[in-house]
Amino acid sequence: MLQAEAVVDLDAIRANTAYLAGLAAEQSAATMAVVKADGYGHGAVPSARAALAGGAGWLGVATVGEALELRTAGIDAPILSWLNGPGTDVGPAVRASVDLGVPSVRLLEEAITAAKAADRTARLHLKVDTGLGRSGATPADWPDLLVAAAKAQAEGTAEVIGVWSHFACADEPGHPSIAAQLAVFREALEVADRHGVHPQIRHLANSAATLTLPEAHFDLVRAGVSIYGLSPNPAQVPADALRPAMTLRARVLIAKRVPAGHGVSYGHTYHTAAPTTLALVPLGYGDGIPRHASSAGPVLLAGKRRTIAGRVCMDQFVLDVGDDPVSEGDQAILFGPGDQGEPTADEWADVAGTINYEIVTRIGARVPRTYV
Ligand code: PLP
Repeated sequence: MLQAEAVVDLDAIRANTAYLAGLAAEQSAATMAVVKADGYGHGAVPSARAALAGGAGWLGVATVGEALELRTAGIDAPILSWLNGPGTDVGPAVRASVDLGVPSVRLLEEAITAAKAADRTARLHLKVDTGLGRSGATPADWPDLLVAAAKAQAEGTAEVIGVWSHFACADEPGHPSIAAQLAVFREALEVADRHGVHPQIRHLANSAATLTLPEAHFDLVRAGVSIYGLSPNPAQVPADALRPAMTLRARVLIAKRVPAGHGVSYGHTYHTAAPTTLALVPLGYGDGIPRHASSAGPVLLAGKRRTIAGRVCMDQFVLDVGDDPVSEGDQAILFGPGDQGEPTADEWADVAGTINYEIVTRIGARVPRTYV
């Protein structure tokens, strides 16, 4: 084991994807594995390969750069890149047969210009904003986008592969926006039909909708956090259906005895209550450990749950292990699947006032990923 590492269980990603793809297949929908942000911190290329082995037929990323990383690694599955702004050079994506999410006439025109320059047909997924309020054409602007897309299709410069949107509150069962967004999406598909735009693939569902809203699966689901074994809402997932893929662990760098009343870490927000052993763990906010977890983050060390003593620093934090026999080189586990008694990313999210997505995604590049 390395000094600090994020161990990624690729078989868990494969099995989680197989579970989600099974749910999608019940509705005759295909599965896109979302591997943006370096596979939510798990490593984009290995995660993509594991997800494809688990039955994903598509990969989803935010930027063209992320898509090209997958292509450069030799992955030839269909890829959708959906967050490209005006002026992004989409030419390399068009040449690499990467599908582009298109939220506006302006971006449609840029994709077509790139396609013409490359002597290719741009593969487009037109995005309608059904209520999230992020990217996508509003229902009012939707007909203009359809007119431009239909013209490009007729000219042979673009092919409308998909029409899609994204949920705001799918992880909150019964939230009124869910039904409202579904209705707007269905209406947008009808408007597309009337404009002669007949997408091969309609897609709306994220993990939460894949898990709980079969009526939202359409032709493809876009599953992100769940393929890494985390749930957007643990109450929505049957126990044991998903297995967290990432274990974050480090070796104790220094273990030393100190007297009672010893201040610990910056600001001395913690003082030892009695003579004790302090164990230094070489992970800090520079590695993505939330500073909000100061005096709160849970860690498994020498068979016991401990709480971080004092402040999380940039590269390290301290555990007060009392008189327990902790030695330099012992393994501290910050989070993992939980079956060795270690905390989970969900627990870290609670402690840090965030969501499990952020806990795994922010683990920094300095922490090597090892794959099992
Ligand atoms: N689709 C889009 C457009 C996204 O931005 C994301 C992630 O944020 C996903 C799908 C996957 O969402 P989740 O990780 O909740 O499955």
